[in-house]
Amino acid sequence: MTPPTTSSSKDKLAALRTEIEHRNPAQPEFHQAVHEVLESLAPVLAVRDDYAQASLVERLCEPERQIIFRVPWQDDRGRVHVNRGFRVEFNSALGPYKGGLRFHSSVNLGIVKFLGFEQVFKNALTGLGIGGGKGGSDFDPHGRSDSEVMRFCQSFMTELHRHIGAHTDVPAGDIGVGGREIGYLFGQYRRITNRWESGVLTGKGLSWGGSAIRPEATGYGNVYFAAEMLRRRGEDLQGQTAVVSGSGNVAIYTIEKLKALGANALTCSDSGGYVIDDKGIDVELLKQVKEVERARISEYAERRGASARYISGGSVWDVPADIALPSATQNELGAEAAATLVRNGVKAVSEGANMPTTMEAVDVLHEAGVAFGPGKAANAGGVAVSALEMQQNAARDTWTPARVEDELLRIMQDIHHTCYETAERYDAPGNYVTGANIAGFERVADAMLAQGVI
Ligand code: NDP
Repeated sequence: MTPPTTSSSKDKLAALRTEIEHRNPAQPEFHQAVHEVLESLAPVLAVRDDYAQASLVERLCEPERQIIFRVPWQDDRGRVHVNRGFRVEFNSALGPYKGGLRFHSSVNLGIVKFLGFEQVFKNALTGLGIGGGKGGSDFDPHGRSDSEVMRFCQSFMTELHRHIGAHTDVPAGDIGVGGREIGYLFGQYRRITNRWESGVLTGKGLSWGGSAIRPEATGYGNVYFAAEMLRRRGEDLQGQTAVVSGSGNVAIYTIEKLKALGANALTCSDSGGYVIDDKGIDVELLKQVKEVERARISEYAERRGASARYISGGSVWDVPADIALPSATQNELGAEAAATLVRNGVKAVSEGANMPTTMEAVDVLHEAGVAFGPGKAANAGGVAVSALEMQQNAARDTWTPARVEDELLRIMQDIHHTCYETAERYDAPGNYVTGANIAGFERVADAMLAQGVI
């Protein structure tokens, strides 16, 4: 038999992509996530015929299980609403399914599948023995009272509880799901099962099984990853300016860690517009507005004084800075915005959000020689500390914040190193997309190969 070549592998992967698009219609985000990974894999399949023979890519693109359920709940006026709940258990070759829940009006099966697919490779990169999954609902928590959010979470968990468990599937937060929602979900799980199973959810409060540094982990981890990319180029974060999008969990702790390491974030945003603050975003004021009052960021600009302006609509990527950290949502940074960043002299782009940069925009950045950290590597700090939370729960232990943060730093440096080295090994120096996709794929593929036709 003739051994495969990179070009024959490319043809096979292109055919597979077409088949996946055909079998999963109307799921553009899932198609995009698959496309991006398959683009990287031809050189691997060309040297690993055993992967091709075992149809590993085909198996990896098909979730192990997809659960869709009705979530009925009553608002404060007694009106009944019906939302749709999802949990996609994508791959458990390396450990229990692990990945967040997203509550946002845009959530549908295709979005949950894109997130679950990415999660498989991201979790593999952490080296911490976790499989990949994701879930959520098209419920929109904006403007809902605490009691409404609680009733929704209780109804959601009433169905979800039968599918999850500390050794099965361990959800966490994502867009629209923070500490408040995890509390309501955990309370309902405990009530239904009559079990104190702290390892069933991560992102819990500190006094009831949570880990120090979990809220901070995704943002802090992304800044550590950006610092590593700069270090490879002989630079550091000291004195650098940054554009950050979003103003939720990931954005807030990105801005906080940038400041701690001597850089200055000039912006944040929400779905209505963005704030530019010439003095740098005041993270304590941002936390007060977003985390305590759950208000809009226009409120931040009103209270901050002369240094800050709120721009309704517009693009945060128009603001010149040394580095960019997209931290809001998928496809928020397109080719035009990437070209603007390049024109403004950006040196590095590191993804706090999942798939915020379109493939065309990534090409623009690569062509201009900008260091680009893809989310599945750069934002893996959140799930990594979730895995550390699971370790603490299993050992009935509580680690100090310093211990967790030391581990987080070590893990992010290790992920950076793995991506960098893998890209070099496959002749794509400096290409972290190739490095992350191949390194994550190899770890999951080897485990699947060892475990038989599963
Ligand atoms: P939050 O809900 O805390 O914040 C989300 C932020 O993004 C808000 O400012 C929100 O603005 C904005 N946003 C959401 N959707 C849109 C949209 N369609 N257009 C414009 N802005 C939008 O979520 P997180 O900070 O937790 O998550 C942000 C990103 O990071 C997501 O891509 C998530 O998947 C990813 N991520 C999160 C992790 C975590 O640990 N939380 C881990 C790894 C990745 P508004 O209030 O107006 O909606």
